[in-house]
This record gives sequence, structure tokens and C-alpha cells, in this order.
Amino acid sequence: MIAKEIKTYPIVETFHSIQGEGYWTGTNAFFIRLGGCDVYCPWCDQKESWNQSLHPHISVTKLVEKTELANSKIIIITGGEPLIHNLFPLTSELKKLGKKIHLETSGAHPFSGEFDWVTFSPKTFKPPHESIYNFVNELKIVIATPEDLEWAISQSQKIPKDAVKCLQPEWNTPHSKDLIFNYVLENPQWRVSLQTHKYMEVR
Ligand code: SF4
Repeated sequence: MIAKEIKTYPIVETFHSIQGEGYWTGTNAFFIRLGGCDVYCPWCDQKESWNQSLHPHISVTKLVEKTELANSKIIIITGGEPLIHNLFPLTSELKKLGKKIHLETSGAHPFSGEFDWVTFSPKTFKPPHESIYNFVNELKIVIATPEDLEWAISQSQKIPKDAVKCLQPEWNTPHSKDLIFNYVLENPQWRVSLQTHKYMEVR
């Protein structure tokens, strides 16, 4: 008899909430937050996720069970930086639930997994791996400085033409809202993304 491979991932948390940001804002979603990130954004609000060794390993089987129990419309794989892991074992099992699977990633590692929607949020602190660009459905750039707008423009030139393009103010940088507002008024191909879960004071 061939032993069945038991694949596990370091998990920071799983939770049922709404998608707070981007194109799918307001959508009922079950989140799987994977541990591990080596991008090290200074303003990161998930720093506890960086060291994957601090988080318990949970099997794919258990993760599928938890996901199935939640009455969510979509499943969101996030982090940390989820692509630090091979996501094929996880997504191939989640697919069997028949729900749409979304990925939130900086693209800093080679692309893996089967997704229905890829939200790509590249960071200057560790530029993306080239394998991500063809898979992008939504580009979401966090804006803290005018230089971040230049980064947004350069990244938007590498993604599919029909991808949604969002600029999102860095939560603790007040002037970032003005930067984005003015830029979107002059550049209608971009739209604003706000972290609505923070306004609603939910996860
Ligand atoms: S890529 Fe995401 S998890 Fe990693 S440091 Fe940046 S904001 Fe934090």
C-alpha cells in the first residue's frame, strides 16, 4: 500500500469575514493566512506572520474541513507571503469544495497553485518573481510616497491589459489618501481601494 502524503502548512489563522480590500470588497470570504514572509515591508500590519516557525502546521485535510464549515462565497489564501510555499497541494484539495479560490500575494516567489482570482500587490522591498505577471487579475499597490506611484505605473505595464488596477492608501500615512485621490482623478484607468474591514473594525 502506498502511504498517503500528508501535506501541511504553517498557519497564522483562519477566519470568516468579508474581503475588505480591492475589487471584491464586501464579499463574504473565508481566509487562510499562511505563515512566512521575507518581503519585510516596514509598515506591514502582519509582522507576526513573518517567522513561519512560530506557527503550527495544519494539514490540508484539516484546512479543507475548516473551510467547508464556513458559509463563504470565496476562499482567500493570504499571508505572510503565501507563494513562499508550494500552493498546489492546498488549492487542488480546496477546489473540490466548488468555491472560487483567490490569492493575495506580493509575487516575491515563483507562482504556484490553481486560482480563480489573483490579487497582486508587489513591493519594492523585494521585487516580484517574473512568473506572476501572466496570472494577475488585479494589481493593488499600497501608496505611502510619491515614489510608490512610479512603482505602480511600472508594474501596471507588465500585467494583462484587462487586469483591474487599484491604489490603496497606506493606513498610517494620512497624506497617501490625497496622493491617490488626485492621481485617480487624472488617471481613470486606476481606482481607489480602501481597507474597509479596518473602518468596520473587523478582521
Ligand atoms: S508582503 Fe505582506 S506580509 Fe510580507 S511584509 Fe509586506 S505587507 Fe507584510
